[in-house]
Amino acid sequence: MKPAPFDYRRPGSIAEAVQILAGEPNAKVLAGGQSLVPLLSMRLAAPAMLVDINAIPGLDAIEVEDGGVRIGALARHAAVLASPDVRRVQPLVPMALAHVAHATIRNRGTTVGSLIHADAAAEMPVVLSLLGGSVDVDGPSGRRTIPASELYVGPLESSLHHDEIAVSAFFPALAPGAGVAFQELARRHGDYALVGAAALVEGESVEVGYLSVSDVPTVVDLSGVDDADLGEAALAQLEPADDIHATAAYRAQLVRVLTGKVVRSAREWADQHAE
Ligand code: FAD
Repeated sequence: MKPAPFDYRRPGSIAEAVQILAGEPNAKVLAGGQSLVPLLSMRLAAPAMLVDINAIPGLDAIEVEDGGVRIGALARHAAVLASPDVRRVQPLVPMALAHVAHATIRNRGTTVGSLIHADAAAEMPVVLSLLGGSVDVDGPSGRRTIPASELYVGPLESSLHHDEIAVSAFFPALAPGAGVAFQELARRHGDYALVGAAALVEGESVEVGYLSVSDVPTVVDLSGVDDADLGEAALAQLEPADDIHATAAYRAQLVRVLTGKVVRSAREWADQHAE
């Protein structure tokens, strides 16, 4: 199918982009287009205007900052995955990104676009939520920082206002002695996961984030739970849902299996990287 007709703008600055967005409530930001363009082609989205941010300079930076790494809105998944800085500062990011789609899609799709698209089946929203990261957005009233805990409000729905642009995402660094791991089950490598889990262990603290289980990325605290009970303890805090890809019962079984495995892997990672 062809998309419904739309106007197209390609601003050269964030200020110009914000001004255009403010004047057209039914506009959509276009970043890598790897989620938006299929939605347009299937006519599941029909915005009046696309505001293409690809000509705005400086948005593709990946920078190490105090306490973490900042990823610009035009940094492609492939660049983030290949970045030694990201791998050193927060290894969970490349662990999860390796499961995002296929190489061609990662060459164009942006990590920030994936965060804003807010698909509960996507890897990066769960990683940002588990790590307690944030997104910086620019709008008519200036810049604000949205913590991951306030970013996801529903299926495919973030808390950005229609006239705001996400300019970067901040992923906190891994603390010394902490461990991380990522596991998912997909029908084929590169497909969206039937269920995925990311773990962060730090001393006695154990947290696991899940994708493809609920409508939004969900993080559960499993600190103090015996290893044998991890899966059931996680399930007690989750409500796996049915869809065309898997039944709720199958998803529950994947939560049971993946939770123990991902926590074990995170502990092993911490042991292997202990100084
Ligand atoms: P776009 O498609 O350009 O935009 C997506 C949405 O986010 C739009 O609503 C847009 O308006 C908004 N947006 C984007 N950037 C901004 C911004 N800076 N400010 C405000 N709003 C913004 N993803 C996964 O996580 N896991 C997968 O396994 C996976 N598999 C895929 C398989 C296929 C075949 C395809 C086509 C895609 C797949 N994806 C997967 C999606 C891919 O990761 C996308 O790149 C990503 O979801 C969106 O990034 P984008 O830059 O392409 O955003």
